[in-house]
Amino acid sequence: MYLPQELIRRKRDGGALNDDEIRWFVSGIKDSSISEGQVSAFAMAVYFNGLTLDERVALTLAMRDSGDVMHWPDLNGPVLDKHSTGGVGDLVSLMLGPMVAACGGYVPMISGRGLGHTGGTLDKFESIPGYNTYPDNDLFDRAVREAGVAIIGQTGNLAPADKRFYGIRDVTGTVESIDLITASILSKKLAEGLDALVMDVKVGSGAFMPTPEKSRALAESIVRVANGAGVKTTALLTDMNQVLAMSAGNAVEMAEAVAYLRGDHRDPVVHEVTMALCAEMLVSGQLADNIDAARRQLQSVLDSGAALEAFQRMVTLLGGPSDFTDRPDDFLPKAPIIQPVIAPRDGIVQPLQVRDIGLAVVAMGGGRTRADQKIDAAVGLTDIVRPGVTVRAGDVLAMAHVRSEAQLADTRQRLTQAIPIAEQAVAAQPVVHDRIGPEDLD
Ligand code: URA
Repeated sequence: MYLPQELIRRKRDGGALNDDEIRWFVSGIKDSSISEGQVSAFAMAVYFNGLTLDERVALTLAMRDSGDVMHWPDLNGPVLDKHSTGGVGDLVSLMLGPMVAACGGYVPMISGRGLGHTGGTLDKFESIPGYNTYPDNDLFDRAVREAGVAIIGQTGNLAPADKRFYGIRDVTGTVESIDLITASILSKKLAEGLDALVMDVKVGSGAFMPTPEKSRALAESIVRVANGAGVKTTALLTDMNQVLAMSAGNAVEMAEAVAYLRGDHRDPVVHEVTMALCAEMLVSGQLADNIDAARRQLQSVLDSGAALEAFQRMVTLLGGPSDFTDRPDDFLPKAPIIQPVIAPRDGIVQPLQVRDIGLAVVAMGGGRTRADQKIDAAVGLTDIVRPGVTVRAGDVLAMAHVRSEAQLADTRQRLTQAIPIAEQAVAAQPVVHDRIGPEDLD
């Protein structure tokens, strides 16, 4: 038994807490025996003074253990997952899960809804009629075993201490602590019972972290803490100065993901990021000896259709149409108006204001401004132009999928602002900016 005010005081004065003290504090967050004022004072002390690596590992594990922790004792392959800090047009999980499953991994992916300007994997799956995003434990377990992948939503008992802690941070100006973000993200991911994790930390105008330096600091923190907690973890810093996919929205991204898995169309930027993340998972999970071998394996499950089959098996097991991937257009909702947004002038497309493009999708109804809002799965953007492309006045910058003429006018106005066109050339940027593994950190 400790006194919360004494622990808070120690953090305020720059001292460190031991594992027992952190575990006790986290159990008090979970059962509300520690008041909101005390939790927020603690968060503010951490915001200013930080946590040591040992404290971050202890906080992560204590929050993970505050709820259900999955175990996969008798699977014949590694349990793997990816987490992204979120972006616009980030449909990687939709393909990555089935691709890794087709290579012998098991992916029990708990995903989230879109919030702010970023889309959410869960919302994208809800565009499939009948797909059950909240199956009971038995069905989830069966889908992971039989399809190798199940992508579902977070149930109430996954890291409940983080749920309360995050809610308090959100209203006390303490979300932006890299140490607390690290523990928050990892507590939920590690509750999946993973052998290995890859982290996709976005960099650029559509990223959650406000600067490239902070994106890197978060990636390093996550790699250190996750490995410190015993889960082999690497991170990639990937580009969010462009919309990752060619589309942004829910049904439109689902359609692009299915086209990718079917081999109908594979955008090179999407392909690069997806392959890079999947390859990290295969190597960390010891399904491949090195990145080149992993990429060959991944290409072969795309070419053979095995990844597409894993996706379909997951959809069928979770209640979606058994021929979804044969004719996705017959199932996915469609917007009544599909019209171009055109370039107002000649020039070269500059790095995009990606956050504003995400907000344009939110404004159409494709995202939320409040956590309890319903979204419109049909609206969104497709054929979004890439930075560096030379356009003439009248060329298509994107296709808007909207419900009304008023939405179309609003979308056109927002996109014309968010897609700058100028004379200067745009230097080609790598889409994967860097990789951070535990061996890169002292
Ligand atoms: N996402 C999380 O899950 N937690 C944070 O603290 C920030 C982003």
